[in-house]
Amino acid sequence: MNKIGITTTVPIEILIAAGYQPVDLNNVFITDPSPERLVNIAERAGFPLNCCSWIKGIYGVCMDYGIDTVLCVTTGDCSNTVMLMEVLKLKGINVVPFAYPDKPAPQQMQHALQALAETLNTSSDAAEQVRAELEPCRRLALKLDELTWKQGLVSGWENHLWLVSASDFNQDHHQYRHQLQKLLHHCQQRQPYPSDWLRLAYIGVPSVYGQDLYHYLENNGGRVVFNEIQRQFAMPQPGSSLAEQYSNYTYPYSIYERLKDITTELNRRQVDGVIHYVQAFCHRGIGDIIFRDALRLPILTLEGNDDFFLTNHIKTRVEAFLDMLQRSRRRVKIVEEV
Ligand code: SF4
Repeated sequence: MNKIGITTTVPIEILIAAGYQPVDLNNVFITDPSPERLVNIAERAGFPLNCCSWIKGIYGVCMDYGIDTVLCVTTGDCSNTVMLMEVLKLKGINVVPFAYPDKPAPQQMQHALQALAETLNTSSDAAEQVRAELEPCRRLALKLDELTWKQGLVSGWENHLWLVSASDFNQDHHQYRHQLQKLLHHCQQRQPYPSDWLRLAYIGVPSVYGQDLYHYLENNGGRVVFNEIQRQFAMPQPGSSLAEQYSNYTYPYSIYERLKDITTELNRRQVDGVIHYVQAFCHRGIGDIIFRDALRLPILTLEGNDDFFLTNHIKTRVEAFLDMLQRSRRRVKIVEEV
């Protein structure tokens, strides 16, 4: 299969039906042994210092890994992608634009899917067949999510990793399914996490810190039981068609669509506190105002740029946040006992 780079989660069912192997360029960037090197490639090409590292990383991957075709999402993800697309064109890369509709309406989504299918010489029917083929992978990913927050058998990092990988199923959905089945079996034999650990939610785009953040939280008595956007990549509300599936996927639409999902899950998962990650120079960071207004839980906002590890400054802020959550938990307990 020919590889096609993707800049965010897209209807990969159409790409696979058209004979392509989707490659999530974000995942390639962040798992590269030296993501800084990929950012440098972009900066040497002229990308400004105040441009988001993910955009620069995607560009670096395209150049360094020899990607020749990229599906760029022009509406519903990132305004920077539009200019990235123009630069990729300049560099001789074949780009295919895709726009999510402005609002989550299945009929509009059907038109967008149809147009993409025609561009790639395939059909919606063929894509629906691929959807059925991918369904077991999505079901397993959501099972892993349940084992994370309900049974406490899966770590926040494992949860992140398998859900975020649902954007392209690690470039091989057969292998993804097989490996995840094995992991789920293994998880059932584990002892659950202690029930008195803090329960945390991670909202916002995936961070540049990788596993550092999750491990640091766990070393300090807190664990992530809800990875918001990563879970969306696994399509938790698949509906009865591709058009419904990608209309129920909250990320491309208004932040208020995300809020409905977030508030439901915070309650269901009995979360103590929220970590909102924002990427430096990203327009989505402004949404912090809305989250702080709407969510009734303590929020720690972390902004990452191009440090691909937790700095001491971030560690101190995380520790102080967890400490505050522990103290308020103890206060509530004392009041209840009195
Ligand atoms: S983090 Fe923000 S600016 Fe960067 S690629 Fe994602 S949406 Fe765009």
